[in-house]
Amino acid sequence: MSSNTPSLSPILLMARRAAAMRADGRDIVDLTLGEPDFSPPEHVLAAAQSGLGQKLGYSPSNGIPELRRAIQTNLLWKHNLAYDDDQVAVGCGAKQVIFNAFIASLRPGDEVVIPAPYWASYPDMVKMCGGTPVIVHTAPENGFRLTPEILVGALNERTRWVVLNAPGNPSGTLYSQDELRGLAEVLDRFPQTFVMSDDIYSHIRYTPGAYVTLAAAAPKLFERTLLVDGVSKAYAMTGWRVGWGCGPANLIGAITSVQSQNCTQTSTLSQLAAIAALSGPQDFLEERTAIYRQRRDAALAVLRGCPVLEVVEPDGAFYLFPKVKGLSDDSKLALLLLEAGVATVPGSAFGTPGHLRLSFATDEAILVKGCRRLVATLEANA
Ligand code: PLP
Repeated sequence: MSSNTPSLSPILLMARRAAAMRADGRDIVDLTLGEPDFSPPEHVLAAAQSGLGQKLGYSPSNGIPELRRAIQTNLLWKHNLAYDDDQVAVGCGAKQVIFNAFIASLRPGDEVVIPAPYWASYPDMVKMCGGTPVIVHTAPENGFRLTPEILVGALNERTRWVVLNAPGNPSGTLYSQDELRGLAEVLDRFPQTFVMSDDIYSHIRYTPGAYVTLAAAAPKLFERTLLVDGVSKAYAMTGWRVGWGCGPANLIGAITSVQSQNCTQTSTLSQLAAIAALSGPQDFLEERTAIYRQRRDAALAVLRGCPVLEVVEPDGAFYLFPKVKGLSDDSKLALLLLEAGVATVPGSAFGTPGHLRLSFATDEAILVKGCRRLVATLEANA
């Protein structure tokens, strides 16, 4: 193994620790994983059942044509964005599409601008694909938003990608149309730069109004934006491994070539289920979001009672990212909390030390119990 060997995701590490302690009979509230605790909708399960009766052969590397059409229809409905068939690539989750895009496009010396707090996988992926992550820090006072001023300071002629994830993991940050246009004005000056618009949490929002994605807010960027989404979070289909990227045909072609030499395609059965997810009723999305909102508010009520915590109310996704005042070592604190019976992920895993990430994709009573344990431990160690 070389010294470049990537380490296991810190999120999975903490989740594993929590699972091992539970297996030993310890009472641990696990708030580590970003995995919906719901099941996929019934019509998705039914489509998978009937798929089992079909011949499940290889599919095209860019996905079953009917799935690509369902994605095109979905993006027209959600954003009024029209993608041609050769502008859609399907992969094993959004994660593989992002990885494929980096490996297909990064050359040594290329930089990728990643706003912190970030999803822990982005910088590791960039390094594995030969690029250099350039981390820019955002401020909790500004809802962890990337601003044009921060962005302009990070861009140069070597910038190949800017990553924009909204609602953000772990921040929950959303951008208005005007804010996206402000970022687009800066990006106008750097025509060699692609934008990765990671919209995987776009259905899980707590603010009124439609979701605005960058390529729709700033049509000039349509030609160099890769819009990434998938069924994992919205449809509670994490293990089914279906995600997609939509963008310029030459980039999509390169992503598809990587896919074809890698695992050929994602599971044909999962693709049939994803077609059902995208084409079937969508009303459960709002119902589930209402449940997430209730959990968010219940957790916030407990955390806000603790004087050493500062918590920004997330606009979307299902994470809380409190700052622990005066904290010097968040990994140590996460271990202390684990011993006290609540598993969290230290903020340093997301490029923002001094914070903790708590997932509220879990039952409300358990979540509240975990938050109370957290507060009690902090108060006992203040
Ligand atoms: N992007 C973000 C911001 C995520 O949080 C995740 C999963 O946690 C992914 C992408 C990957 O999603 P998928 O399950 O579709 O690979």
